[in-house]
Amino acid sequence: MDLRAHLLELLAPLRPGDELVPGARLLGISTEIGFWLSLELAAGEVQIEVSPLGEGRFAARTAQFAISYRDEGGRNRIDSALGLALCRAVAERVGRNEARVAGALAQRTRDAVPAARIREVRVESLLETAGHGAERFFKLSPYAGCLIGCRYCYAQTPMSAVRRLEMLPEAPWGSYVDVRVNAAEVLRGELATLAPRPIKFCPILSDPYQAVEARFAVTRACLETIAAADRVWPTLLLTRSKLVTRDTALLASLPSAWVGASIPSIDDETRLHFEPRAASIPERLASLATLRAAGVRTFAVVQPLLPGSIDELADALAEVVSSVSIDVLRGEEAASGDFDDPRYAESRTDAWQQARAAELVAALTARGVAVWPGELPPELLAATS
Ligand code: SF4
Repeated sequence: MDLRAHLLELLAPLRPGDELVPGARLLGISTEIGFWLSLELAAGEVQIEVSPLGEGRFAARTAQFAISYRDEGGRNRIDSALGLALCRAVAERVGRNEARVAGALAQRTRDAVPAARIREVRVESLLETAGHGAERFFKLSPYAGCLIGCRYCYAQTPMSAVRRLEMLPEAPWGSYVDVRVNAAEVLRGELATLAPRPIKFCPILSDPYQAVEARFAVTRACLETIAAADRVWPTLLLTRSKLVTRDTALLASLPSAWVGASIPSIDDETRLHFEPRAASIPERLASLATLRAAGVRTFAVVQPLLPGSIDELADALAEVVSSVSIDVLRGEEAASGDFDDPRYAESRTDAWQQARAAELVAALTARGVAVWPGELPPELLAATS
């Protein structure tokens, strides 16, 4: 059993499609960034998180888990009494099953050589539904964990929660990765049965072209599976690695593929300070140029914004991408020490981030480059609507 199947057992006998309580149907679960349940209510969707008991706040608890709710990122306000009642209903089920599931997970972890830095794991399912309304898409992660290990990476907190769920020892972010060795095989089955939606590689918990991809080629195998499918699956990849150019021909052969690079600054000294193990800024720009020359649609993500010339960044991006997604710093994670450096201290403030974002939007717009919010580029949404 994979982690997902084990965690679903916490809710047994509830299965996706069943009602948790009258009027609240379980749509599905996600185990990519912790353990989340999606419930469908008449008023909209609500997400419920089941996490190992820790310091945080919760609406209900069991002996081992904390249960809390979230309403589509604040899009749908959920009455707090209803949120509480749903969390209690989840807690009741989890409480009945947790001892059995904890025993099975502990055994699985003992069997899986927990100290391994690079673990080869098998999964039973791969695609996870994400997004809202017209922006529904599938997340696809050939890897979980990332050896590039950027200190401000948002994946580290949820991935550490997943490690606690798996009863694995704490490990520093950037020191471990699970290689989903059968991902392409599982994907083949899923593409044959699901209705096409955009597929987004590694939206948060790993980089699809981190160094282990050179050895295991799981990302490549998944792309080959998408290329061989009998329907078109719009595909989006985002990376900080130059290894992506290895797959230029394959990506160019896909009828609907977008490839992006994260580029938070044009200044490579700044990049080296914050992302020492990722490709340099010139390497990322060169990768995008190579892909674009081969006919692949390219984009960039600037998030967070870091010090460096805005005009030079806008000039460089205008050369290699057709659109850019911009967002501000949403938390420093383990990079507080990096931001303490006087050269970067001001860039941690929201006022600095907002001002630089506005400057970059203006500079890109003046150069004819589209700027987009959200999870998917507008050209991809238009192609799939
Ligand atoms: S490359 Fe991406 S997934 Fe990997 S550590 Fe950096 S931000 Fe996180």
